[in-house]
Amino acid sequence: MKEYIEVDEWKIIEKGFNPLYNKISESIFSLGNGRMGQRANFEEAYSGDTLQGNYVAGVYYPDKTRVGWWKNGYPEYFAKVINAANWIGIDVLIDGEQLDLAKCKVSSFSRELNMKEGYLKRTFTAKTAAGKMIDVEAIRFCSMADDESGAIKYTITPVNFNGKITLTPFIDGDIVNKDSNYDEKFWDEVKKEIWGDGGYIQLRTKKTGFEVATGMIFTIVQNTIPVHLFSTTFEKEKYVAAKVELTVKQGEKASIIKYAANLSSQNYPAAELAANLKQTLTRIRKKGFEVMLAEQAEAWAKKWQHNDIIIEGDASAQQAIRFNIFQLNQTYTGEDDRLNIGPKGFTGEKYGGSTYWDTEAYCVPFYLSTADQKVTKNLLLYRYKQLGKAIDNAKLLGFKNGAALYPMVTMDGTECHNEWEITFEEIHRNGAIAYAIFNYVRYTADEAYLADYGLEVLIAIARFWAQRVNWSGDKQQYVMLGVTGPNEYENNVNNNWYTNKQATWCMQYAMDAAEKVKEAAPVKYAALINKINFNEAEETAKFKDIIAKMYFPYDEKQQVFLQQDGYLDKEQILVKDLPATERPINQKWSWDRILRSCYIKQADVLQGIYFFEDQYDLDTIRRNFDFYEPRTVHESSLSPCVHAILAAKLGDEAKAYEFYLRTSRLDLDDYNNDTEDGCHITSMAGTWMSVVEGFGGMRVKGAKLSFQPFLPGKWRSFSFHIGFRGALLNIKVSKDGVQIKNLSGSETTVLVYDKEQLVKPNDELLVEA
Ligand code: BGC
Repeated sequence: MKEYIEVDEWKIIEKGFNPLYNKISESIFSLGNGRMGQRANFEEAYSGDTLQGNYVAGVYYPDKTRVGWWKNGYPEYFAKVINAANWIGIDVLIDGEQLDLAKCKVSSFSRELNMKEGYLKRTFTAKTAAGKMIDVEAIRFCSMADDESGAIKYTITPVNFNGKITLTPFIDGDIVNKDSNYDEKFWDEVKKEIWGDGGYIQLRTKKTGFEVATGMIFTIVQNTIPVHLFSTTFEKEKYVAAKVELTVKQGEKASIIKYAANLSSQNYPAAELAANLKQTLTRIRKKGFEVMLAEQAEAWAKKWQHNDIIIEGDASAQQAIRFNIFQLNQTYTGEDDRLNIGPKGFTGEKYGGSTYWDTEAYCVPFYLSTADQKVTKNLLLYRYKQLGKAIDNAKLLGFKNGAALYPMVTMDGTECHNEWEITFEEIHRNGAIAYAIFNYVRYTADEAYLADYGLEVLIAIARFWAQRVNWSGDKQQYVMLGVTGPNEYENNVNNNWYTNKQATWCMQYAMDAAEKVKEAAPVKYAALINKINFNEAEETAKFKDIIAKMYFPYDEKQQVFLQQDGYLDKEQILVKDLPATERPINQKWSWDRILRSCYIKQADVLQGIYFFEDQYDLDTIRRNFDFYEPRTVHESSLSPCVHAILAAKLGDEAKAYEFYLRTSRLDLDDYNNDTEDGCHITSMAGTWMSVVEGFGGMRVKGAKLSFQPFLPGKWRSFSFHIGFRGALLNIKVSKDGVQIKNLSGSETTVLVYDKEQLVKPNDELLVEA
């Protein structure tokens, strides 16, 4: 754990330059706007340790899989969102000497991520080997208002000399992916152009043929006045640059304003990319840096209006929750149903930027409450559009009759994962996809979604489960063999309780949804069952039989659901009795040792209890929590949040708070020693859940929202916004009680501590403590 980030309620601040932490900071200070994003690399050259990263959403490359022992059914490719052209680069020469912080004496270095207004600012003083000192201020952002654009204002002030500063802004497409399987470069050049004050390169991805045109246009400003200087242009393969030489005086500022844009063939015909790019560049330069920055602040102000969580009395918790919300909004804005949320967003290469069950299980609740419902609908449509591939995927594994198995990892619907215990066995992901449909419909009341899209997915998933179970003659029950639950520290187990639970729940929900659609939209229903050949009588009879006769492992003695058959045969040494030197076990132990141990990577039985909480009484929840939490090592970032929510439900405020801190400051404090690879974006939605569903105790009960809040000891108050079925509420929990403001024009009834409260439009009320 590292604690070098300064606490501030609206900013992430790093003071002092620590090259050892540079890659961590590059992740934490990342920028994005849903369409593109980047790590916080330096604009000028840097020969120290760095992970360069610029990403364009939805542009991926199917990297040929590398495995030791090929298994039938493995996917041939792992689709990765790839490192794209670097548009931030500005080479700087100080009287002929290259500015490189790894080779300079650096003082007063600071990085600041302004989350309120959405920009990154870096300042430092550097002394070159020749003794020339400069002050630098660099401000940059990925525009939210103009989401194909970004801008940088890079200002240099000579401190102790008069002389020459040479600036070479460039676009570099000769990029490597650190996690490329065969050290292959993924981009080919299509064309390029460079002129006096701008240029671009157009690249095409190998195999997938995406084309992206990345360009720049720049202005030089000396002492606040734009100057027109002669530039020398350069080009080489996948690279364009323009060099400008400035004569500078001690104490006088010289700036370059570099405007950039990324246009992709996903949105334009490839042949028209360059022309559109030039128009965009001209337009944004005309707008100017200050206007773009003001638009950025405005766009973020709008987001914060509906997103912000305010915590009074705990600046560190306040900073952390805002950081999580900020990063989620930078990653996904929900405007395009071809895009999704990679576990690392735009902050690194790990997990390939691909889609996991994280989206449905963790991110959907966040976007449902904090954004227009079309945002979540787009996430659901992403999967709907990939249903055909999920059916093909199941077919490949031997399933029939339109059964669908969604991939564990995907970009375009094709499975990318190639570890047999996950690809073939971590099938619970199908359940999360069905659960997200349920969540969306109960949250928005958009029942039409079921008739138009949802039911088709639900039936395909139910069909998968109906074929995946088998009848055990011995038990005279249905069983599910050879699976991996959410706890990936167990593989190839029989009867993972969570997976069995998801399977029966999915079949039941598919039938409930079918009934609803049949009644509300009989014509659409008839068309659908015809399209997918759904033999209603026969297939639902099978679903019902499985639901009635499914086997769920249970331990009578301790009265807990058993994670899987045989779990109690394992040596039961609790995590607290495991020496700290042995942890994290995924770095210290061999895989077989992990598999034989009782240690749980992330919520598994407890994930099921979280999803289906209504089905269990408090004692059952407590017994299972008290049994499983002490055996959980939380080595997935997705783990602490579920535990925070359940601890809060059980009234264990101290534990809930401890888990909250762990999830919310996971990256800021580098808890898991892996932030340098990128931030844990999808688990950030879990942080939001810990506040709203944990401390706020928010649940959907029928057609109403229900709150059972408590105030963590250290906090004076906390408040959050929730959009629900057309109403926008602000909930503030303080020592005085629970204040509910209805910020919308329609009246709404909520439950607070189980009592109904009617809140009139644009009105507020206080439920006293
Ligand atoms: C977790 C999975 C998760 C993946 C991506 C893994 O470590 O065990 O549940 O889907 O990370 O976040």
